[in-house]
Amino acid sequence: MYDPKSPKAEEFISHEEILKTLDYAEQNKNNVELIDQIITKARELKGLTHREASVLLACDIPEKINELYDLAEEIKKKFYGTRIVMFAPLYLSNYCVNGCTYCPYHLKNKHIARKKLTQEELAREVIALQDMGHKRLALEAGEDPVNNPIEYILECIDTIYSIKHKNGAIRRVNVNIAATTVENYRKLKAAGIGTYILFQETYHKESYESLHPTGPKHDYAYHTEAMDRAMEGGIDDVGIGVLFGLERYKYEFAGLLMHAEHLEAVHGVGPHTISVPRIKSADDIDPNAFSNGIDDETFAKLCALIRVCVPYTGMIVSTRESQSVREKVIRLGVSQISGGSRTSVGGYEEEVRPTDTEQFDVSDQRTLDEVVHWLMDLGYIPSFCTACYREGRTGDRFMSLCKSGQIQNCCQPNALMTLKEYLMDYASEETRKVGEALIAAELNNIPKEKVRQICEDHLEKIEAGIRDFRF
Ligand code: SF4
Ligand code: SF4
Repeated sequence: MYDPKSPKAEEFISHEEILKTLDYAEQNKNNVELIDQIITKARELKGLTHREASVLLACDIPEKINELYDLAEEIKKKFYGTRIVMFAPLYLSNYCVNGCTYCPYHLKNKHIARKKLTQEELAREVIALQDMGHKRLALEAGEDPVNNPIEYILECIDTIYSIKHKNGAIRRVNVNIAATTVENYRKLKAAGIGTYILFQETYHKESYESLHPTGPKHDYAYHTEAMDRAMEGGIDDVGIGVLFGLERYKYEFAGLLMHAEHLEAVHGVGPHTISVPRIKSADDIDPNAFSNGIDDETFAKLCALIRVCVPYTGMIVSTRESQSVREKVIRLGVSQISGGSRTSVGGYEEEVRPTDTEQFDVSDQRTLDEVVHWLMDLGYIPSFCTACYREGRTGDRFMSLCKSGQIQNCCQPNALMTLKEYLMDYASEETRKVGEALIAAELNNIPKEKVRQICEDHLEKIEAGIRDFRF
C-alpha cells in the first residue's frame, strides 16, 4: 500500500501507485482544463505532486509544452539567477563487487584495469584539480569492502581537505559511494562532507533486481532506503537521481518525485540535488543494448519538469551530456555542472585524458577554462561557491532560506567573489577579460546595498591576494 511516510521502500515507492499515476496521466494528457490548473499551481512555486507532474510529462500539446518551458526558465531565473555552480568528479577506486549491467566497473569485467589511488596519488589528483581552479568535488568509488572500506574513503576526505597548494583549496567534498549503514553515514558527516549522493538507477524493483544481478547492491530495499539512513546519521543534504535509459522514463520520473515527497514527509526536507544522468557508452557497455534510452527533447522536458516540480532543489548535469544539450538544459533549470572532468581513476594528473579506466565516455571534453568562458559568453556566472555547508546552512535551514528567497543575498556575491578568485588564479587572459567585465556588470544585481558594498570591498581584497571570503 502506498504511504509516503512509510520507512519501507516498497511502500513509499509503491509500484501500484506509479502504475495508477501513469494511467491517470495517460487519461488526462489532453485534458487542457486540468493541465492549465496544474500549470497555474506550479506558478505559485509550491511544487507539484508526482501525479500532477506526470500529467504534464504525458502531455504533448505543443503550446502547453512551451508554457512549461517558459515557466521552467522563469523559475530558474527567479531562484538561481544566472549563476551556475561548478564541480568536478574525482574517482578514487574502480574496484567493485557489484554486477551492475550498465557500468564497466562491474565485477565480471576482467579486462578493465583496476586501480585504487594511494594517498600520494590522490594528493597529485587534488593538486591537479586545484590547479584547474576547482573548489568542489564529488568523490566516486565502487563498492568493495576490502579495497574501498569506509576507512579508506574517510582517509581520502581528510587528505583532500588538508591539501593547500598555492591559492588552491577543495572546500566542499560531496560523496557518491554505495548505500551503507547509519554508523558509516555518521562517520561521513563527521568527516565534513557536503552532500551524500546516491543514484537510485531505477525505481522499478523488478528491473532493478535484474540490472543488479549480483553483489550487495542487488538488495532494492537497502539501496532505496539509503537516504533515510543517511539522514538518520545526520547528513541532511542528500542528492538523488536515476540513470535514464534503464527503465521507462515516465515510470522513473514518478518514482523520483515520490522519493522526494517521501524525504520531505519523513524528514521535513527534500533532496538537496537531483541528478539526471543518461546511459553512455564505456568499456564493455553499449547504451544501444538498453531499450529505454531517451532523446534530447525528452531529456529537456524532464529537466524543465523537475525545475517546475521541485523549484528549490538543485539540478545537476555532468559531462555525460554534450555542449549543446548542456546549453539547453541550463536554460531550463540545471543549476550545477561539472567541467574539465576526467572519469577515470587517476585521470587528472595525466597530460592526455586516459580512457583505460573511464566509467563513461565524456561527451563534453572541454577544459574548465573553456567551459567557464562559454558560460560567461552565454550570460551565466560560473560560481565556485561552497559557502552554505561551511556556514552551517544545510537541510531545513537551507531550504527555508531558499524558500524565502533570502539565499539570493548570499549566492550572487559569493558567485562573483569565487569567480574573481578563479580569474585571478587560474583563468586564461581572454577568460579573465570577459570575467572582469561580467563581475562589474553583475555587481548591480546584488539586491542589498550593504551586501554590495561588502562584496566590492572583498573583491578588492581578492585582487590584493587575500582569499576565501563568503556570505
Ligand atoms: S555503478 Fe557503482 S556499484 Fe555498480 S558496478 Fe559501477 S561502481 Fe560498482
Ligand atoms: S550561497 Fe549556498 S546556495 Fe548559494 S551558491 Fe553558495 S553554496 Fe550554493
